[in-house]
Amino acid sequence: MNRITLSAGAAAALRRLEEQGFEAYAVGGCVRDALLGRAAHDWDLTTSALPEETAACFGDCRVIETGIRHGTVTVLIGGEALEITTYRRDGAYADNRHPVEVTFSRTLSDDLSRRDFTVNAMAYHPERGLVDLFGGLSDLRARVIRCVGDPRTRFEEDGLRILRAVRFASALDFSIAEETASQVHACRALLDNIARERVREELNRLLCGRRAAGILREFTDVALQIMPELAPCVGFAQNSRYHCYDVWEHTLRALDETSSPELLVRLTILLHDIGKPATYTEDEKGGHFRGHAEISVQLAEQIMQRLRYDNATQESVKKLVRMHDFPLKAELRQVKRLLQKLTEHELYCLLEVARCDRLAHAPGYDVPSPALAQIPLLVEQIRAEGACLSLKTLAVKGDDLLALGIPPGPRMGALLRTLLDAVVDGRLPNEKTALLEAARRKTK
Ligand code: ATP
Ligand code: MG
Repeated sequence: MNRITLSAGAAAALRRLEEQGFEAYAVGGCVRDALLGRAAHDWDLTTSALPEETAACFGDCRVIETGIRHGTVTVLIGGEALEITTYRRDGAYADNRHPVEVTFSRTLSDDLSRRDFTVNAMAYHPERGLVDLFGGLSDLRARVIRCVGDPRTRFEEDGLRILRAVRFASALDFSIAEETASQVHACRALLDNIARERVREELNRLLCGRRAAGILREFTDVALQIMPELAPCVGFAQNSRYHCYDVWEHTLRALDETSSPELLVRLTILLHDIGKPATYTEDEKGGHFRGHAEISVQLAEQIMQRLRYDNATQESVKKLVRMHDFPLKAELRQVKRLLQKLTEHELYCLLEVARCDRLAHAPGYDVPSPALAQIPLLVEQIRAEGACLSLKTLAVKGDDLLALGIPPGPRMGALLRTLLDAVVDGRLPNEKTALLEAARRKTK
């Protein structure tokens, strides 16, 4: 029980440090994940050796001085990149995020005390076993995220821990201990001081977690702290026979339907209806949200820019939010047209968004269209046929039209596009003679 098998690299590095007279342990996320029976994605070691002493132990390996000031050295050993960090105590904190000074220590307990949550504050040694000073193992068994020490103090030291708490709860499908949870709520404004890139990374992991919807429901105030644009959705009744949940609850239910690990799917679901409150109108039939997708795109963009999402993610999310309502049909022509606008991957994400959106409608209107399951077969067919979808693969080029006496310019562009449309729709084959003949006829 409580035995963990370290990776070969971690075991070798640990042995090497100890042979040189230092103490070393596996620590943090890898110990937690291994105890949960999950594959640890990277192994971190903590050691009594000072960074330069660690570096000296690994003179024959590649050593990267990752964060030497914070005591972290990355060692490449047996094809693994191991982070080895000196035992440390964090001094006073500035700006709710950064310790002003870090002091190295020679005792493991100092190092474990500075860690954020009990389940992240356990160390393991192949011979000495588990070092669990804060009840991490029992919290792991009870599936609870609990701060090491006083939650308020720990959040005031570093506001990012507020988001880390909800992110771990979502990713691990844990609950948050009562006092920790109440301070997550109480301290949420500290998130305003945290670098937006860090907020984004935690939000992404929260969204992609197993319990994302439940956590966002319980900690809606935290979500609104980083995305105030969502506030009007909370409690916004839809007065529609298609919907029995308010906009936020619908969003959460849709999110809960997906098991896709794709950030694109999850971000799109989170933001797809954010424009609804701003477009609400009412008539004798009830509430309407005409044009909401376009407003959702604008608000989504505002959020993603503030949180510094990369351009590719922003563009994909905006496309999918804009199209989340699109009446998808299992028709070859329509699917080809979609593939002109979306990559195959984006199309699959859109199908998943549409499926989950539908499942979160009112009873009776919550059945996804059968087309959603058929469209992938059409995509396969289109791919197998190597169908022409863009000017790049059209059998005539500008030069061919030039030979017909059509000058380069907007007219030529328009003609190429018309020919492409005809090929995509199946009205013309993608063959040079047929296309040139059609071009000749069109320019007569
Ligand atoms: P994962 O890598 O799966 O996200 P992890 O627990 O390894 O989980 P990291 O961010 O890699 O998380 O951090 C490694 C360890 O460092 C954590 O387990 C925790 O002990 C400690 N730690 C990380 N960030 C903080 C923080 N902001 N405050 C206190 N301790 C932290
Ligand atoms: Mg880690």
